[in-house]
Formats: sequence, structure tokens, C-alpha cells
Amino acid sequence: MTESGVPGNGGQSMELPCGEERSIHELDMGLREIDCRCGETHAVVMDMHPLSRFVPEFLVEILTETVEPAEDDREEFTTAHLMAIVMEEFPEEMAVADVAEDGAVGYALVWVADFDSRRLHEIVVELLVELMEHAVSHAEDDAVMDQFEQEMLEFDVSEFVEQYRAQRDFESEHDTPI
Ligand SMILES: [Zn+2]
Repeated sequence: MTESGVPGNGGQSMELPCGEERSIHELDMGLREIDCRCGETHAVVMDMHPLSRFVPEFLVEILTETVEPAEDDREEFTTAHLMAIVMEEFPEEMAVADVAEDGAVGYALVWVADFDSRRLHEIVVELLVELMEHAVSHAEDDAVMDQFEQEMLEFDVSEFVEQYRAQRDFESEHDTPI
């Protein structure tokens, strides 16, 4: 982020990866992506979005049980940790704003990607699979490792994302805001 993108007081704005600016107050909690003046659609993630936005509950459980965010950190794995990993992989394509001071928006951190929400979803699932592989490989149980590898051989990220999004979109009609 360049200096011009650093949010000031009052009407905060953030600089998006494409260089456009967006007022924080235009990014409300239900938003998953935005149409930008640059012509692209950018994925939007807030820290209060549950991990189940991207993966089913049973995988969220595996993640929170097996993956520790850092050696000295006993916290559960959260969306904020996930997005930190995405930013590490795609530093140029991600922007983040800390809006914890702004009580009006209902979230503390917001990320905007250069790519759309579908592409972000695929990236997230790929990174989570890698993360779980790593965690499972440290479990000293070859049977677990074998089973996991077997399942992953048959795992198609793109197909999974397609199906999961269709399902979640359907469910979201009945979802109520958190
Ligand atoms: Zn843009």
C-alpha cells in the first residue's frame, strides 16, 4: 500500500490493489465482492466472515483442531489467519485495511483482492489443502496421512468451489446476518 492509501480520521478509505480508492463505509458486512471503477470485480473479505464461507463445517473443524496459526500462538485458526496466508502468497494482489477504530462498520479488518470472489475462493481452498497436508504430515500416524492423501488425489478444487458456491448461494437466501 502506498502512503496515499493509509486511512486517515473520519471518512476512511482504502486503496485497492488496482489503485482505485474506496470508502470503507461503502464496504458493508454482507459484501462478497465489488464492481470497481477499474472495470474488474474484486473479492471482499471481512474478519467476521466465518471460515465456512469457503469450506464446509467439517473442514473448518479439522482446521481449527489441527492448524495452529503460529508456534507461540494458541489461538484458533480464523479467517484473519487465512487472509494473512493469502497475502503472503499474493502480496501485490491484496489490500487490507484496519478499521477497528471505526465502530460504524461492524468489522475490524477488511481485505480486497485484485481478483474476483470465485478466484479467491479457489486460491483459499488450495492454500487450505496445502496447510492441512502439512498439518497431517506432522501427525505421527501413517494411516491418517495415507487416507488424507488418497482423498486429496480425488479432490478437484475447481469442482469443489463450483458446487460449494452453488450450495451456499442457495442457502444464503435463508441466512440472516450475524
Ligand atoms: Zn479495481
